[in-house]
This record gives sequence, C-alpha cells and structure tokens, in this order.
Amino acid sequence: MRYERQLLIPQIGQEGQKKLEQSTVTVIGSGGLGSPVLTYLTSAGVGTIRIFDCDVVSESNLNRQFLHNTGDVGKLKILSAKEKLSQLNPNVNLVTFNIRLEPDNVDEFITGSDVVVDCVDNIATRITVARACIKLDIPLVEGGVCGLYGYVIDIGRDFPCLSCLGYDKVKQKTPVPVLGVTAGVIGCMQANECIKLLLGIGEPLYGRMLSYDGLSGTWDESRVKKSDSCPVHGNTKK
Ligand SMILES: [Zn+2]
Repeated sequence: MRYERQLLIPQIGQEGQKKLEQSTVTVIGSGGLGSPVLTYLTSAGVGTIRIFDCDVVSESNLNRQFLHNTGDVGKLKILSAKEKLSQLNPNVNLVTFNIRLEPDNVDEFITGSDVVVDCVDNIATRITVARACIKLDIPLVEGGVCGLYGYVIDIGRDFPCLSCLGYDKVKQKTPVPVLGVTAGVIGCMQANECIKLLLGIGEPLYGRMLSYDGLSGTWDESRVKKSDSCPVHGNTKK
C-alpha cells in the first residue's frame, strides 16, 4: 500500500521497488539538502540509508532543515533526523554516524554504498567524498546552493567532478546565504537523481550540470567535460 503510487510508474514497478529495497545509499549531511534527500529516499523505500552528520541542531538551521524542529535545538542532527525518518517509514534501515568524513576514514565508511549523495556545505568535504567515490567507483550525486541559486550534477570515475570544473577554487561565502526553498528544490533533484541511478533508469546528470536560478525561475543545462589537470580524478587514475 505504501508504495502503491510509485509501483504504477512503468520504470519502477515491483522489480524497481525490490531494487530500491535492496539498495544502500549514503547521505552526507542532514541539513538543508539532506532534509529533502533523506525524506524522499526514506518515503520511496530505499532499503538502507547511512546518514553522516556531526553537527547539533541550532536555531539558525530551522529556515531550511525541515527534518529538525524548534524542540530539537541542541540535539545531535543524526538523532533528530532518525527520529522523524523512522516515523515516516519504519521499514527503512537507518544507520547513523556522528562522524566527520576525512581523507583517512572516508573509504571505509562509503564502501558498500550503491550511491552517495553529498549534502554538505563545504568544498573540503566535497573533495574528500568525490575522491573516494571516484576511487571506489561509486556514483556520487552533488548539489549545492547559494542564495536563490543552486546546481545538481552526477559524478563518476568517467565523468567530470566539481574539481574538473574549478569549483574547488571558488571562494565560498560563510555562512552561505540560503533560502529554505532553494535547498528544497536542489535536494529534491538530488533525491531524483539518486533514485534514477539506483534503478538504472532515465538519463543521469553525468557530464551535465543543471543550474537553477530561483529569481528568474529558470534551469540551465551545461555540458561539462573532465579536466586532464583535475587533482581529484588525477590522483585516482588506475
Ligand atoms: Zn575531476
């Protein structure tokens, strides 16, 4: 009953649903992007979701991080997130880690994931995660927001990463200005990409960056290429 409506989608059906139930997804961050990503992966019935976050909920998170409520301020985000998600769908195996992913632990923690979804707000973690995903050949869904703008792209060993595109050199404003709905829009797109990759359906956003402009209400698609001088891809060549 729970999945009745999505079972009606020809690209999903019983077989796709079974695939989702047998899948393991790692979601890094349970904040502005992580809230929609985790909510939709949980409601879709992904079998195992690993959640990484080492922050506690603060009041300034609440304009966008809808997994957390006012009463959760001060609580570990992984606990607050798990509480809501297990109420949404108790069939999903939610595994939480109060750990910051670093170059020396990331491989061990993301091994065994079918897809990794990056929902962080800093480029250092993005690079650490991308390097590991490319090395271990795990598809990675990236999304980022700033103000009323955002982007989504799928990353893989044979496809460009954010460092290929020079994003590692962009100086980021801190704290990052964000409207809650913008994180919602981008997070929903990331969840959609993740489900497509798990099911092997549609056209993943490999080599295609979707950029969202909430002010003009438009999406742009840019075809992007791997860079020969990419430090992330370069270090992982076999
Ligand atoms: Zn690269």
